[in-house]
Amino acid sequence: MDPQRSPLLELKGNIELKRPLIKAPSRLPLSGSRLKRRPDQMEDGLEPEKKRTRVLGATTKIATSRPRVPPLTAVPQTQGQTTAQKVSKKTGPRCSTTVATVLKNQKPVPAVPVQKPGTVPPMVGGKKPSKRPAWDLKGQLCDVNAELKRCRERTQTLDQENQQLQDQLRDAQEQTKALGTERRTLEGQLATVQAHAEQGQQELKKLRAHIVELEERLSTQEGLVQELQKKQVELQEERRGLTSQLEEKERRLRTSEAALSSSQAEVASLRQETAAQAALLTEREERLHGLEMERRRLHNQLQELKGNIRVFCRVRPVLPGEPTPPPGLLLFPSGPSGPSDPPTRLSLSRSDERRGTLSGAPVPPTRHDFSFDRVFPPGSRQDEVFEEIAMLVQSALDGYPVCIFAYGQTGSGKTFTMEGGPGGDPQLEGLIPRALRHLFSVAQELSGQGWTYSFVASYVEIYNETVRDLLATGTRKGQGGDCEIRHARPGSEELTVTNARYVPVSCEKEVEALLHLARQNRAVARTAQNERSSRSHSVFQLQISGEHSSRGLQCGAPLSLVDLAGSERLDPGLAFGPGERERLRETQAINSSLSTLGLVIMALSNKESHVPYRNSKLTYLLQNSLGGSAKMLMFVNISPLEENVSESLNSLRFASKVRLPPVIPRPCQYLWVVVGFSI
Ligand code: ADP
Ligand code: MG
Repeated sequence: MDPQRSPLLELKGNIELKRPLIKAPSRLPLSGSRLKRRPDQMEDGLEPEKKRTRVLGATTKIATSRPRVPPLTAVPQTQGQTTAQKVSKKTGPRCSTTVATVLKNQKPVPAVPVQKPGTVPPMVGGKKPSKRPAWDLKGQLCDVNAELKRCRERTQTLDQENQQLQDQLRDAQEQTKALGTERRTLEGQLATVQAHAEQGQQELKKLRAHIVELEERLSTQEGLVQELQKKQVELQEERRGLTSQLEEKERRLRTSEAALSSSQAEVASLRQETAAQAALLTEREERLHGLEMERRRLHNQLQELKGNIRVFCRVRPVLPGEPTPPPGLLLFPSGPSGPSDPPTRLSLSRSDERRGTLSGAPVPPTRHDFSFDRVFPPGSRQDEVFEEIAMLVQSALDGYPVCIFAYGQTGSGKTFTMEGGPGGDPQLEGLIPRALRHLFSVAQELSGQGWTYSFVASYVEIYNETVRDLLATGTRKGQGGDCEIRHARPGSEELTVTNARYVPVSCEKEVEALLHLARQNRAVARTAQNERSSRSHSVFQLQISGEHSSRGLQCGAPLSLVDLAGSERLDPGLAFGPGERERLRETQAINSSLSTLGLVIMALSNKESHVPYRNSKLTYLLQNSLGGSAKMLMFVNISPLEENVSESLNSLRFASKVRLPPVIPRPCQYLWVVVGFSI
């Protein structure tokens, strides 16, 4: 406690301190009955006068109600006293205690002049006291004494009151301390509560966020639920549909089962029928195969009857720009059945200028008649020519070697007959493309009877007894021959040309490509060797292989198509320069090989034990296509021009010689004459 503070101020301070307690009553026990007042009473206590009155009781009231001491008003006043009085006047009885307290705490004031006895007494309760006369000193003294006594009593009372107030103050201080402690506790609690509140706020925030999230999930789930419900409805509808379908299908199944059982019975009877049909089919296949074999045999017999060696003569037309031959130079007499018969005879008329008549008249021309298996006059078309040899192509597929030659002087139409005319006109296609197309189509038909065919093509040229590959590509294209004719395998009859290409073919386009390549190769050689193509033999060979796997049958044979070198002879009257010597060598090689071919054919016709295949590269290469059951066809190509009559006659004679039927041996010297003449 501050010792400088007055008890009154202490009290006031206590009262002020108590104010908060009114708002928040303490739970601590209050000391003294006064402290147990109600809040309203405490409010009242804010009025110091009332409080004091209550505390001090009647004594104080008496003191305050006492009339003012007159001398005080008379005493010369200090500045403070004057102020106190002024305040007292303003505040009335309430300020009287204050005045008293001030008086108590003030230093003793100088003694006031005492009223004489008999003077008028101080005014009490607003009434003017009777003033003692100035002379009544005794009275005045009495009054002063009385007043002093009252003051002493008053002081005593105030001391008691002060004591009480100090006690009260101590209580209040203790209470303040307790309240401070309580306040701190409460502040701590408040902080804890605030922390809890803050935590709670955060948790609340989290919970709100969680609630928001849950609400979102809930809305999503609700959406899903709605969707699922929709789907469920759809599925239920689908299920109803499926159920009805199932019922329908079950109904159909029952119907089908009934139908099946009847069908099974039907199948059983059909099976029996099928077995019978299969047996019939097998029997028919057997018969068909037998018939096919019979057909092959008869076909071959027919071909043999026609002759294994046949000769066709073809006369080319007069080309634009060529002189028209004299009428009757070439005649084509009708056959025994008249003009409807295909021509087989040809007459060539030649006037021999060396011969003369005694009269000097012109010698009638000598007529040379020839008969062949077929004669094609100048107007014959390519397809007509091919028709006649289609049967031979069938023989090749049946497994018989077939060899077709084109013989004649240069320009007589050999290449035209074998390969075709210029410009790729299909009407002018020659024997090679037509024969291969026919082969492929017949092979396709035979595949229905279980036959499988394969074809491998080669194309070589024999020039001056050297073999050159016409299918060579790349760097070997157009080069000279480094090819040799060898047996394919040791002990094998099959021959092969080394370094030559053997190309499998299965369609016309592949064959066309090969013919085109061969033409290119010949063209390259021509620039280097001056029309070598007419001075060489071109040999196109197709190895045919057939197999009937289910019956274990195999057949195979070569089909050879040969465009022979020009058969013309060298004019012995020509001067022999270096070019002519080369030409002579070529001609000798050609004539030698053609003579050997004639000898080989003759030997085969006469079934001689020795056939001179090895005398030329051509006959050596073709030996498998000529002997035995081989079918041979020779086209002798003739020029219609008068200037070529001599060569035409030579060709016709050569062809007639090879056509000689075996049963009627032909004089050999005739051949030797021709050969000798040629050389
Ligand atoms: P070769 O090969 O015998 O030397 P070609 O076949 O080259 O003779 O024929 C010489 C010419 O005669 C070529 O222009 C050819 O087109 C033509 N020619 C040959 N035979 C016939 C024919 N039957 N019809 C039309 N032209 C032909
Ligand atoms: Mg030719």
